[in-house]
Amino acid sequence: MQGKPLILLALDESPFLQLGERALFSAGFETAIVHDRQALGRALQGLSPSLLLIGEQLSGESGLDLAAEQLERFPTLPILLYAEKDTLAIAKEVLRVGLSGYISPPLHTDDLVTAVRRSLKRARAIGDWVRGEVKRTTSSLQRQVTEFDTIFNNIADGVIILNKQGYIILINRAAAQAFGVTIESVFNRPAAQALSHPDLQSLLGRSADEGLKYHEINFDDGRVFNAHFASIPNIGSAITLQDISYLKELDHIKSDFVHTVSHDLRSPLTSVLGYAELIGRTGPLNEHQTDFMARLQASIRDITSLVNDLLDLGRLEAGFDTRREIIQLENIIDYTLDVLGGQISARNITVHFTAEPHLPSLKANPLRLRQMLDNLIGNAIKYTPPGGEVTVRVRAEGGQVILQVSDTGPGISPTDQPHIFEKFFRGENVPDNVPGSGLGLSIVKSIVDNHQGRIWVESAPGHGSTFFVVLPAYTPPTA
Ligand code: ADP
Repeated sequence: MQGKPLILLALDESPFLQLGERALFSAGFETAIVHDRQALGRALQGLSPSLLLIGEQLSGESGLDLAAEQLERFPTLPILLYAEKDTLAIAKEVLRVGLSGYISPPLHTDDLVTAVRRSLKRARAIGDWVRGEVKRTTSSLQRQVTEFDTIFNNIADGVIILNKQGYIILINRAAAQAFGVTIESVFNRPAAQALSHPDLQSLLGRSADEGLKYHEINFDDGRVFNAHFASIPNIGSAITLQDISYLKELDHIKSDFVHTVSHDLRSPLTSVLGYAELIGRTGPLNEHQTDFMARLQASIRDITSLVNDLLDLGRLEAGFDTRREIIQLENIIDYTLDVLGGQISARNITVHFTAEPHLPSLKANPLRLRQMLDNLIGNAIKYTPPGGEVTVRVRAEGGQVILQVSDTGPGISPTDQPHIFEKFFRGENVPDNVPGSGLGLSIVKSIVDNHQGRIWVESAPGHGSTFFVVLPAYTPPTA
């Protein structure tokens, strides 16, 4: 059973106060009396009255101002004003402040009780309505949350939402399963700790400063996920994980096939080339025959070099590149530029090479790095029209060596850029007479990957291209 409603009387001592108190008491209300601002504040806070009856003046302060102040704190509290006189000005003020009403003399015995009851009834009706609305909205929100939960947890791809501090604020079942954790055990924990997979750590580390979007997450049991990182303004970031194990499997099958075919082609090609060279020695050839033989041999050499590239790529992808030496990248660049000197002058290209002094060493396979530079600088020279410029820069930063190869060539369209490191991809910018197989950059990418490095391109059609390679610097073991 509810107690009696408490009416707080904030009135100066007066006959009205005594009469009012008695009338309310007889009508079944409880009352409490305060005479100044402090007591009023305390009573409202501590007693939670059902209604406040306040005098036009309270200890010399304006009752209306006090009432307005209290309404700011307790917007649903019904407040009645007791005014000495019923004037239009009072009525207006009561409306302006938003009080429930006012009473003023002459008052009959019941007038106060009636006014209090009416205000309470109205306040109760408003309260009921507000509670109903809140309930309705809450249950609709609840329903939406449940629906969202069901959808979120049934998405086949893994989804992880992080706040700005990198804490997991949402993770669905697929993502939790991928990492072998339960949703409860990682919720509200820093992703870097809760999901301690090195590939994910590196994705988190790099995405923050580089806006890197895609990353592969390789699990020991052979599963491979393609992780996509996206910033969400004002919230944090989202990581989606797509299981691409079956694509990787297909890729392996394809690579194995290509490797076997290339391997089997090499011996017959060598013998075709050998015989082609022998023909000239078996007797004199006429001018036409000599020309045809030369073309034949050039074509066989092209095919042989393609087959060799494919075999090479197969070896790199299979992780056979394990030779490591302590080397200086700038020395290998010098050597590469020397070897490419003929092409550089034939195409009338100006090459600028700058290397920061005291560059750290790398622990790398020098032959593979030469192959990487041959391809990158070779492409820059090959694609830059005669008279253009190629700039090679090496510098050190944060325990890494950064190589930049820029050219004043045609640039690469944004639609081609994501594909240039794929096997056999040749861009739309390639002029008809520029030879190539589309394998060079995939070899470069494999070499960079094998050295735990990263490669990317920045380019715009008509504004040249810059290839960046970042390799970890070698840190000698401390004695
Ligand atoms: P290839 O040069 O044999 O075509 P690559 O794998 O070396 O194959 O390069 C792939 C594609 O990337 C090229 O076909 C070309 O479209 C583009 N590309 C590479 N390097 C450059 C460059 N320096 N300037 C413009 N386009 C380039």
